[in-house]
Amino acid sequence: MDEIRIRELKVFAYHGVYPRENEQGQDFYINAALRCSTQRAGISDDLEASVSYEEVCELLQREMKAHTWKLLEAAAEHISAVLFAKYALLQELVLEIRKPDAPIDADFASVSVCIRRKRHVAYVAYGANEGDCEQQIEDGIAMLDRDPFCMVARMTKPLKSTPYGGVEQSDFYNGVIELQTVYEPVELLHCLQGIEKAQGRERKEHWGPRTLDLDILLYDDLVYDSRELTIPHPDMMNRDFVMLPLSQLASHVRHPLTGKTIGEMARLPMERHVKA
Ligand code: ADP
Ligand code: MG
Repeated sequence: MDEIRIRELKVFAYHGVYPRENEQGQDFYINAALRCSTQRAGISDDLEASVSYEEVCELLQREMKAHTWKLLEAAAEHISAVLFAKYALLQELVLEIRKPDAPIDADFASVSVCIRRKRHVAYVAYGANEGDCEQQIEDGIAMLDRDPFCMVARMTKPLKSTPYGGVEQSDFYNGVIELQTVYEPVELLHCLQGIEKAQGRERKEHWGPRTLDLDILLYDDLVYDSRELTIPHPDMMNRDFVMLPLSQLASHVRHPLTGKTIGEMARLPMERHVKA
C-alpha cells in the first residue's frame, strides 16, 4: 500500500514516568507512516483526496502537547485513534515515538515505542430481552460509537422475536452492527463487555435474560480461538436472528471457515455450511 511518511518530527512535551519529566519536559521525535491509497490524489492532483502531511504534523504536535502521559505507549495509542477517526482514507499506521533523552542510567542513542495499527471491520451482534430493551440497545451503540477506537458504520434496526420453549422470558430484540475499529480482537471484546456492564448486564445464567449482549461475529477474515474469544462466532450460523440481519449488511462477505458468503449461508439450511 502507498505511504505518506513523516520523519523525525520534533516536539517538546512532558511525557514520562518520573514527575520531573512531567515538570521539565523534553524533546520527542515522531516517525509516522500512514498507509492509504494515494492513487485518487495522484490522478486528480487534489490534496482533498489525500492526507495532508502538514495537517498531520500539526495534529501530532497538538496532541503531544495537550496531554501528559506516563508511557510512550499511551501517547502512541491515543494519537493513532485520533488519526484513524479523522482520516477515513487511512488504512494502516506505523507510529514511532522516540525519546532520546530518556532518564535512564545507560549509554544509549535513543529509546522508542513503535506501534502498528490497522482499521478493521467487525460485525457485532446485539441482543436484549430484559429492561427497556430498545433504550439499552440505543445507549449501548451510542457508547460504542463514542469510543475513540470504534466507529459504527451501519446497523440494522432491532428485530423483535418471541422466544419459544419452556423458560418464561420476554421478547428478544436483535440486530447487527458493522463496526470499524482500531482495537485488536481481545481489546474489542473487553470494550463490548464494558458496555454490556454499563447497560446493567449481570452474568447469571448463560441463556438467561440479558439487558444487553454484544457478540463479535466476524473480524476481517480472522480465524481466532482462545479461552475467552472465538472468531468467527461459533453459533452465528445456527441463529436466524443473527444471520438475517448480518446478511443485510454483509451478504457479500465471505465466512472464513465455510468459504461461503453470508448471503449464501443465510439462505442455506445449516448442515450444508460445513465444507465436504
Ligand atoms: P452468549 O454466548 O449468550 O453471548 P455471554 O455473553 O455470557 O453468552 O458470553 C459468554 C462468553 O463467551 C464471554 O465471557 C466471552 O469471553 C466468550 N466469547 C467467546 N467468543 C466470543 C465472541 N466471538 N463474542 C463475544 N463473546 C465471546
Ligand atoms: Mg455474549
